[in-house]
Amino acid sequence: MVKSINKEYKVFVQNRVISIRENVAADLWFYCKSSENPADIITRFNNENSNLCENSLWFKGPLFICDLEEDNLSRNSKYSYIGDSLGDEFTRELCNTSNCLFTSYNKEEKNEIERNLDHVFDINRYNSLKKLIHVTCYVMRFINNLKNIKRKKELNLLKFITQEEISYAKNEWIKCNQSLIIQDENHKKKSNHLNLFVDTNGFIRCKGRLSSANLPYEAKEPYYLYRSHKLVELMILDCHEKVKHNGQRQTLAEFRCSFWIVRAKSLVRKLLYNCVICRKLNGRAYNYPEFSALPDSRVQDDVRFASTGVDLFGPIFVKNVYLKDAPDHTYKCYGIIYTCGTSRGIVLDLINDGS
Ligand SMILES: [Zn+2]
Repeated sequence: MVKSINKEYKVFVQNRVISIRENVAADLWFYCKSSENPADIITRFNNENSNLCENSLWFKGPLFICDLEEDNLSRNSKYSYIGDSLGDEFTRELCNTSNCLFTSYNKEEKNEIERNLDHVFDINRYNSLKKLIHVTCYVMRFINNLKNIKRKKELNLLKFITQEEISYAKNEWIKCNQSLIIQDENHKKKSNHLNLFVDTNGFIRCKGRLSSANLPYEAKEPYYLYRSHKLVELMILDCHEKVKHNGQRQTLAEFRCSFWIVRAKSLVRKLLYNCVICRKLNGRAYNYPEFSALPDSRVQDDVRFASTGVDLFGPIFVKNVYLKDAPDHTYKCYGIIYTCGTSRGIVLDLINDGS
């Protein structure tokens, strides 16, 4: 479709084909047979391709891409390789060891986006910090494995992610968030006001008055985070789960054990307002319906029991102690209650079982 220059398609399709041709030369498009398509390994899984670790098609892609030179691929194209957003080293490794093709970042934009996970992950698609960190860990492991293939080192094929990988991914996301602080025009003002400083690992931290307190280092000098970033929301919700949905103050205290943002309280309040579990547990009960006016018989000052309500309750079992023959014999009967409509006075009595 992209190669058929003389052919005309419907407007919707034609516009998109033109857009593709503007960005990538038509002779760089190839037909990939199903037998050479790595995606089919997963969708049409069978015994032949059950061992992915030894499958060269899975790791290197179709042969015709391997035969093309890198220069040939980038010719006439303003697009660069997928790794550009993660810095030069990753780009080189990825290009040399596998045949992944294009992403949408122009090389001129490279300096602006370098080292920013936001351009690799769409953080707004995540609702859980745990999930975001775990996905980041697996992606970073994949990148490291690509490097290890090149350096002929052992691959990391562990089934589970390790604590080091989690800490590394968390730190990378904090750095990603803090890169937005530096871009903020008011950053200098805030750094004076909040006593910000950069620690030995390159993180921006707040210096408070608790340096002599017997607290962990992270609580004494917490990370300063950019407030308007999804990561902060995920972190607050994570703290909220850690304190078992225990309210605003506890969530805020947990969050401030490691992090600091401006106007934290209002953000916590806003997020907790939308927490479904809290809404279910703390929501108000249904209100009583509005009462109607009392009838005349209930409010007029009349003779007692002039208007009387009657109701039965029971059954109850009673003994007739006056019967000398069978004093322990029990009889089934019902209670009857007469109630005065005006004074609410009552009279109780017993009636025999009529059944
Ligand atoms: Zn909650």
